[in-house]
Parts: sequence; structure tokens; C-alpha cells
Amino acid sequence: MNITKGTAVLKNYINGDWVDAQSNETLEVLNPATNEVLARVPISSAADVDFAVSAAKTAFETWKNTPVPKRARILYKYHHLLTENHEKLARLIVKENGKAYKEAYGEVQRGIECVEFAVGAPTLMMGESLSNIAEEIDSEMFRYPLGVVGGITPFNFPMMVPLWMFPLAIACGNTFVLKPSERTPLLANELVSLFSEAGAPKGVFNIVHGAHDVVNGLLDHEDVKAISFVGSQPVAKYVYERASANGKRVQALSGAKNHHIVMPDADVAKAVTNILSSAYGSAGQRCMACSAVVVVGDREEFVQALKQKASDLVIGNGLDDEVLLTPLIRKSHREKVLGYIEKGVEEGASLLLDGRSAMDELKEGTFLGPTIFDHVEPDMTIAREEIFAPVLSVLRAENLDEALEYLRKSRFGNGATIYSKDAKAIRQFREDADAGMLGVNVGVPATMAFFPFSGWKDSFYGDLHVNGKDGVNFYTRKKMITTRFDY
Ligand code: NAD
Repeated sequence: MNITKGTAVLKNYINGDWVDAQSNETLEVLNPATNEVLARVPISSAADVDFAVSAAKTAFETWKNTPVPKRARILYKYHHLLTENHEKLARLIVKENGKAYKEAYGEVQRGIECVEFAVGAPTLMMGESLSNIAEEIDSEMFRYPLGVVGGITPFNFPMMVPLWMFPLAIACGNTFVLKPSERTPLLANELVSLFSEAGAPKGVFNIVHGAHDVVNGLLDHEDVKAISFVGSQPVAKYVYERASANGKRVQALSGAKNHHIVMPDADVAKAVTNILSSAYGSAGQRCMACSAVVVVGDREEFVQALKQKASDLVIGNGLDDEVLLTPLIRKSHREKVLGYIEKGVEEGASLLLDGRSAMDELKEGTFLGPTIFDHVEPDMTIAREEIFAPVLSVLRAENLDEALEYLRKSRFGNGATIYSKDAKAIRQFREDADAGMLGVNVGVPATMAFFPFSGWKDSFYGDLHVNGKDGVNFYTRKKMITTRFDY
């Protein structure tokens, strides 16, 4: 077990051993609710990446030939261990990420579901065949793993996002090098500990902590065959371009601006509850968070109810049961968010609820209260950019066509939701909404592990999404055999 307390420096996990990074540079890992230093994370170098990739490359030679059901059995055991440690993992997420315990518990569950999907590898990896493609000639398709896969993950889902990647990649016969977020590295070490306890052979799953140098090391390494990335838009684009230029397969999941359309017939109380939990849960630091509400028609009572309920939200440490609004990840991020609030005022949006006062009341952590801008125009900065914070923009539209036009204008297309009972409106939304994951009366329409997580436009770079059949296709390559039998 390698969870270190206080200012101890975390280790990397390479070839089945806990090892020191080869660089001396470290960063503090903070609890955002208290700013207590939990540990220090090493900022590893390209040499550490090389060490991990070479271990993973060696392990691949055996792992790719390990029978698929045997690989799946290790994942069954892993599932059991994750379930046994569900609460402990959730508590650790609260500590390093700051989100509420209930959210963290749910996140662990979503991660476990990815393992449930990956244990289906014997079925998922099946090929296809057709006899008689010509006289006495048959064709068969087999799936094979790619080799060493690199995973680079964000701070906001320290469990779920890595689990989108490595269980399926490894079940498909690949070996893996993970670079977790340097802001939430503790859980990653717990994940690899449990994986090795489940019986994973050495070198199959490795962790290299750090920042840009580790990322670039993976993107440039000739023995890394594919990159799975999740993070902010500029980095996603950079990762996609650099890794593709180096001939790798890449899936890069990126930022978002998710619109929720409130139709004239929407139930006010239900819409408000869903929107508040979507916009302010995890302090708005979710790629599927609602960050823009489009109110269709004159729904003043909805806007007032939203403001009232938002002002009543309990802010604080995620370990307290009644808390919904938890801290932002770092002060530097909060500074950026404060800049967006000032920009919103400057550009003429009306500040309906100002969360900045919470900063004085809750000084010890990186808190920001619920903030709402009303009468936001689609071309304003706060409507266009991802703020990733408890800052909600309310836009007004005369009808559904205009609301859908706002979605089309957005460069992002991760998720969108409509609140309505009107079948015609719902169908129009389904057909015309310019985003990859839609919700109908659902606040966070995140997909489950057996479906692809399918953002559009600048919310995703690549072809094959994470999870579902896309995930299997991403982590395997196909071989076709054509056989003549009358030889
Ligand atoms: P981030 O882009 O800052 O970091 C993501 C990863 O990239 C980290 O491991 C980090 O070390 C690395 N990184 C950061 N800057 C880099 C650089 N210049 N060069 C090389 N590597 C770099 O993202 P974050 O703040 O950790 O996470 C939040 C972002 O992730 C949000 O934009 C959110 O929308 C997005 N996200 C998207 C999804 C999705 O499914 N689309 C899911 C979760 C999070």
C-alpha cells in the first residue's frame, strides 16, 4: 500500500514495484476543502516514462497470449476488491478532490461498472466469420491488442475516468501506463494496489506521476501505440495532434458547455432540482455539468425559483452529509473563475446571484458560492467558454428553434438536456440538438459503461469514443484471414 500521509512523496508504480521518480521535483497535493497538504506528488521525467513503457512492453509479450478468460478472471477479482473498498475509495476522493461523499460514492460505482463491462472481454473480443465468400473460400476476422497504451486523466473524476480506460484496455490484452492528474494522484495509487492484489502480473498496469513531461514522454514514445486522454479542450487538442502526428491511435475527450432547455410546459420544481444538482454538484467541475440554461418563453417563476433554491444550497466540506456545493480544486482555478464573473458583469449580463461572498465565510478552503447570470447572450464570453465552476448562465429564447440555435453556435457538444412533456418538442430536440449525449428530463445524461461516452465538436478529438463497443474497437486491431480449402 502506498498511500502516504503528510508531506511524504508518492511513488510511481512500475513493473510491479513502488519506485521513486528519477526527478527531485514535487508538487503539493492539497485537500481543497481545508488546504491541508496530504502528500507530495513527484513530477516525473521522460526517463521515468521510458522505464514504465519498457516494463509494459516486456509484460505485453506474455499478457497478449494470456487466455482472454484468464485475463477476465483477474478483473472479476478486481471488481470484488473495488466493491469491498467502495467506501474507503469514496472517502479518499473527497479528500483529494473535494466533492461530496455521495458524489464520490457514485463515482466509485461508475468506475466499478466499467470493470463489469470489461469482464465481458471474451464476448467483446469475438471476431466475425463468413464461409463461402467464394467457392471453397472462407473469411475470418480476429481481434488483437495493440501493445502499450498510455492514459492521461483529469482531476475531476480520479476514479471513473482512469477506469474508463485501463480495465478494458488490459482485458483486451494491452498493457497500460497511466499518468493521473497531479492534483488528484492519491486514488490512482490505491487503484493500482488493488489491481496488483487482484493478481495482475507485473508490468501490466503502471503509474507514472507528473505533469507535462510525462504526457509528452507518452505522446512521443515509439513503443506507445495508443493514447486515451481526458481533460481540458486546449490540452485535448494538443494531445490529439501530437500523438496522431506520431502515428498513434488517439481518443481525446475534452471540455464542455452543456445547455439545459427549459420548455414552457416544464415542471418548475423538478427542472430546478435537476439543474441545481447538475450545475452545482462537484462545484460545477463535471464535464456533464449544466452550465447554461435556456429558458423558452416567459418563465419568470422558473428563474426566481432557481435563484431562491440556489441561495439555499449548503456549502462546505464534502464529508458533511447535507453539503451539495463543495470547493473548487485550487485557488489558481478560482482566480480564473473570478475573472469570468468580472467579464460577465463587464459584458452586460445581469448578476442574479453572486457567490463571491462565500469566499469570506469559508476562508480555509477554495470555496465559491452559487453564482447565476441572467440575460446572458450567446456571444458573451461566459456563454461561450467552459468556466468549470458553480457559475450558471441563463439565456432566454422565444422558441425551441432559437434554443437549438444556441446549441449549434456552441463550439462544444458534450451534453444537452430538455425539460418538457411535449413529445413533439422532445423529438425535435433529439433530432436537432447538436451534442453527443442528450437528456430528456435528466440532469446529468452521462452514459453508462456499455455505451460510448460520445461528445461531439470540440468536446472530443478522435473517432472511437471511450467505453462500449467503441472502447473495444479502440483497444483492439483486426486481422482478416482468407482461406482457400480446395488447395
Ligand atoms: P487539464 O487539461 O488541466 O489536465 C488533464 C491532464 O492533462 C492532466 O493529467 C494534466 O497533467 C495534463 N496536462 C495539463 N496541461 C498540460 C499541458 N499543457 N501539456 C501536457 N499535459 C497537460 O484538465 P483538468 O483541469 O484536470 O480537468 C478538467 C477538464 O477535463 C475540463 O475541461 C473538463 O470538461 C474535462 N473533462 C472532460 C470529460 C469528457 O468526458 N469530455 C470528462 C472529465 C473531464
